Amino acid sequence: MSKENVTVLVGLQWGDEGKGRMVDYLAQDVDIVARYQGGNNAGHTVVNEFGTFKLHLIPSGIFNPNVINILGPGMVIDIEAMSEEIADLDKSGISTKNILLSDRATVTFPYHRLEDNLEEDRLGAGAFGSTRRGIAYAYGERYMKKSIQVGELLYPDHLKKRLTGIIEFKNLLIKEVYKSDEIINADEVIDWALTFGEKIKHYICDTTKVLEKASAENKRILFEAQLGSLRDIYYGIYPYTTSSCTLASFAPAGGGLFNRRIDKVIGVMKAFSTCVGSGPFVTEMSEKEAGELREIAYEYGAATGRPRRIGHFDAVASRYGAMVQGTDEIAITKVDSLSGLKKLFICTEYEVDGYLTKDFPLTPALEIAKPKYIEMEGWSEDITKCRKFDELPAAAQLYLSKIQELVGYKIKYISVGPERESLILINNE
Ligand code: GDP
Ligand code: MG
Repeated sequence: MSKENVTVLVGLQWGDEGKGRMVDYLAQDVDIVARYQGGNNAGHTVVNEFGTFKLHLIPSGIFNPNVINILGPGMVIDIEAMSEEIADLDKSGISTKNILLSDRATVTFPYHRLEDNLEEDRLGAGAFGSTRRGIAYAYGERYMKKSIQVGELLYPDHLKKRLTGIIEFKNLLIKEVYKSDEIINADEVIDWALTFGEKIKHYICDTTKVLEKASAENKRILFEAQLGSLRDIYYGIYPYTTSSCTLASFAPAGGGLFNRRIDKVIGVMKAFSTCVGSGPFVTEMSEKEAGELREIAYEYGAATGRPRRIGHFDAVASRYGAMVQGTDEIAITKVDSLSGLKKLFICTEYEVDGYLTKDFPLTPALEIAKPKYIEMEGWSEDITKCRKFDELPAAAQLYLSKIQELVGYKIKYISVGPERESLILINNE
């Protein structure tokens, strides 16, 4: 990474762009990988010499034994899920000794999952399509100041007192608002917190100190985002967003690094569109078209196994997604999945209420937006072995060049397979 020592790797679209795969690649050459937002609703798939892994909380730098992997203050941590994920990695022979967990991160409790389920069930057909892992409740209660920070697990008496007060409040909601009989038992929650707190306590520390020291020593730091621009709580398709800030500009705060600026933002996007959950999705394909690509590209959620919704490449959404990230370089993934499609469509504009626009609008306009497409030739060749741009079929080169032109940021990496080395590097200099 030369002198550009602080890099942030983000998603430019709806999530599942292949961030885990790119972090695994880049982590061969860094000292620290830090997650700065999100929780175990993430599903980052990594395929490398050790096998195929789905990471939820643990940063995707874990496969390099020399990398320190930080779970930053901006994350929400289900400590039960975290200890299970670590146990699974241990079983696969992956070293987990270089994991650090911020004492300022927020604990996700089983009652957050309960609240998530109660509310999604109440909403019925209008549900958000939550992963039901309690993420929105963990973040929401952080802002309501009814959360527990990871470091509080180390003070049992204090923890018991705070949890008892919080649970009193929650039970009022559960009993009186939802009329549910799933009353939370404070003793059980305290027991849960102490049991899993014990399992992960040796990872807890002031991770900011570690990052500040590392950056002062000019170590290479890579921040890893979860989800993508269009799911950002402020700039995404609200309320069909996640509950945290997925943007690169949040990485220093959510990761905990203050004595250095970000040198580079790498934005990952997929060569077509996919999304999980509800909300407007302008370029969504018909179920017949989507079905075919879903099987070829295996588009099922890594966190939930849900079939992903599939659409044509959306240059309006992707350009906006890249803009809000302050993107320097783009990595485009799953280009190989398009082999065999006769025609490819790229959305260049939306028609909203009779007007054409290239701007990505607010949700109510997105809900009525109609895509305007250009049509491009497909290619039939298998491109998974290509390692140079000019080895790609001419139609694939044209498709990628068109995307680069429309999105307006340089493509640096072209991914042609899920494996670490299935990558074309473009020298733009
Ligand atoms: P993330 O959430 O952004 O880390 O992405 P996910 O891991 O949830 O989803 C991306 C999926 O695409 C995973 O199954 C990856 O293994 C796979 N993948 C990533 N890059 C490529 C690629 O270039 N080609 C193919 N065929 N699969 C890829
Ligand atoms: Mg994912």
